[in-house]
Amino acid sequence: SMIPDYLAEVLAAVESDTSGELAGYIPELAAADPERLGAAFATVDGEVYGAGDIDTEFTIQSISKPFTYALALSDRGFDPVLAKVGVEPSGEAFNEISLERDTGRPRNPMINAGAITTHSLAGAADLNAAERVARVVEGLSAFAGRRLRVDEAVCASEMEHAHRNLAIAHMLRSHDILTEDPRAVVDGYIRQCSVLVTARDLAMMAATLANRGVNPVSGERVIREPVVRQVLSVMATCGMYDAAGDWATQVGIPAKSGVAGGLIGALPGQIGMATFSPRLDVHGNSVRGVSLFERFSADMGLHVMEVP
Ligand code: GLN
Repeated sequence: SMIPDYLAEVLAAVESDTSGELAGYIPELAAADPERLGAAFATVDGEVYGAGDIDTEFTIQSISKPFTYALALSDRGFDPVLAKVGVEPSGEAFNEISLERDTGRPRNPMINAGAITTHSLAGAADLNAAERVARVVEGLSAFAGRRLRVDEAVCASEMEHAHRNLAIAHMLRSHDILTEDPRAVVDGYIRQCSVLVTARDLAMMAATLANRGVNPVSGERVIREPVVRQVLSVMATCGMYDAAGDWATQVGIPAKSGVAGGLIGALPGQIGMATFSPRLDVHGNSVRGVSLFERFSADMGLHVMEVP
């Protein structure tokens, strides 16, 4: 196949770009190797292609958000989830204390306010906090097709500096959007963000979305098709936060970024894509990851609004 050669070529083309910064607000992430660079594609037939650092583990961070949203929709049904988390792009930063004025409902599940709420909706309603985390880790693992684990050091490091997420959770609790102890929910959400993955895992997770909710290698149906449609739609409109419009026009692939430097894209019926490069732009999206996806889209004509 020519795909690994192509991937090596585009990695080489973006390698010299050292702009952007590591996520400083989580001390453990600021200690990451900024030079790491990798890209992987997983097809709906279960083929995986990659180049660069595709087996290096890093924390999933916000890329967990669409998958946990999928688990909440599956475990609770659409109506209870939509009653608590909207689907409107906020046009604001990922950590904005952004709630609908009267209801206190977070605008969408990709910003932290929505994702903290979504975490509380994963699994059955009567689970305790530890059981809910276990459900989320097990669900993320099913998307990846391998048993994933939490990086305890990153988790503890973020929890120590979680004042903003705690503030958001207390606001949510005051509106009864959260009904549990806000601190326990934030702890669970941060554990969810601290799950370790590789670019290869992320490509497979994205390929499970691209493949109608069935992991292309394990064959496991992780979520149903209406849930896939909901999740990909929200990724397309909200996945890149306040850069979602630039992304929609220039790349045109449903996507999600994370502050550890991961980035995924999923093309229905075709492919899951993932990149890893830790330096971030002002929106918290990987600088070289965005460049790579711009190239993938242009080079292969992957923009969903273009006729192939
Ligand atoms: N755990 C991070 C946070 O809540 C995730 C943010 C991200 O990846 N954009 O701040």
